[in-house]
Amino acid sequence: PDITPGLLPRPRRLLLLVNPYGGRGQAMHYCQTCILPMISEADITYNLIKTERQNHARELVRDIILSEWDGIVIISGDGLLYEVINGLMERPDWEKAIKIPVGILPCGSGNALAGAVNFHAGFDQVVGEELLLNCTFLLCRSSVSPMDLVSVTTASGHRFFSFLGVAWGFVSDVDIESERFRHMGPARFTLGVALRLASLRTYRGRLSYLPAEDGGGRRAMSRSITLAPTNGGRGFHRSPLHRTVSDMGLCEERSVLFKRSSALVEPSDFEASPSPFSPASNFSFEAVLEESAPPPLLTSLQREAETNGQPKQLAVSESHHLVEVQGPPDDLLPAFDEPVPHNWVTIEADFVLVLAIYQTHLGADLLSAPFARFDDGLIHLCCVRAGISRASLVRVLLAMEKGTHFELDCPHLTYVPVRAFRLTPLTTKGILTVDGERVEYGPLQAQAHPHLASLITG
Ligand code: ADP
Ligand code: MG
Repeated sequence: PDITPGLLPRPRRLLLLVNPYGGRGQAMHYCQTCILPMISEADITYNLIKTERQNHARELVRDIILSEWDGIVIISGDGLLYEVINGLMERPDWEKAIKIPVGILPCGSGNALAGAVNFHAGFDQVVGEELLLNCTFLLCRSSVSPMDLVSVTTASGHRFFSFLGVAWGFVSDVDIESERFRHMGPARFTLGVALRLASLRTYRGRLSYLPAEDGGGRRAMSRSITLAPTNGGRGFHRSPLHRTVSDMGLCEERSVLFKRSSALVEPSDFEASPSPFSPASNFSFEAVLEESAPPPLLTSLQREAETNGQPKQLAVSESHHLVEVQGPPDDLLPAFDEPVPHNWVTIEADFVLVLAIYQTHLGADLLSAPFARFDDGLIHLCCVRAGISRASLVRVLLAMEKGTHFELDCPHLTYVPVRAFRLTPLTTKGILTVDGERVEYGPLQAQAHPHLASLITG
């Protein structure tokens, strides 16, 4: 056959998302001087989009046509990749969407993942423009590795997908409190550390975890509620149920899925009139609520059904099903109101910091978990207990640059690899971050989802 252009490999097409305000606001400058020339040389075609506001990237990737792109590349700090990952997981086709290769070119003040990519490639630990050059070079080589994600659920039922880590205490305080020194670039963290050291805080909390050597753990059940009309279902509308659920502030609209037989029906389908359910057929369906929905919801649903004049039509019963809400089910996690399983370990203590990290690096020059791998399926749980002297804490932080902090044998520093954990802050005020982004302060729990994403590692 003739050799046609269609038989030749087509150039790679990348979607470049640039946060012009990341770090010291130099991302566009680096695009012009370094990034775009290098990737053009590598025969990569691209579309470059500047983000205009927070969550712009998140909304963009919810709507892109996956087949048009060979990868999405973040030109900013870790915060923008966090948006992209969560945007992909919010898609109805999340299972496919999250496999699109994602890459990062460090132009933020927090460049942990870029530090990890550079480390795994075997390069010397560098920061700034040197790190950017290394990462751009690796991007051009284009090989892709599986990467674990961790789902983090807060007590109010919000679920986030995280690629970097959860922090409480010293680390999250520095991260968030140093935001006001953003103009300094990564040096903001050095100043933040100095300020936090000057008035060292401790936090009381309960930390439970499933140690990694334990393997599986039990499969938790999600609570679901079955609404089974007994008269053939005539006249039941979506609205009463839906209103109840959202009025109570228990979950967002999209966390409520309606299930009929095995087919999932999106909540919006219920708005269709007539109902997508044939009134003649005898049907039953479930409203699947997030695990943390408290028991009063049941009685309230019952009441709602009765006040709608359908007391006989609805039989409300609680049943247990293993269900998918959005994204993979958290099969290792109990419901929030349940105690942790027996094979978990629980400690209650005063902490200077709790850091659950899944990458080697916490910043481009902070080798916090030297043994971590992109796809080890592990959450590396590091704690510093109260009682540590300032001098020892400084030694730990300085040693972290080379990744030698565990060799100090500091009695206050502990480490355990886990597959899931629950953190319950007992000190009433504090800061919690997921991938460096602030989340509501309160109990949260998390579990690893091995190999969920694909990372361009070169
Ligand atoms: P840095 O490492 O400097 O913090 P990030 O990539 O983490 O850089 O971005 C910081 C924050 O800015 C993130 O929360 C991100 O969602 C947000 N963001 C992204 N684009 C914009 C924009 N155009 N304007 C304002 N904020 C943005
Ligand atoms: Mg950030």
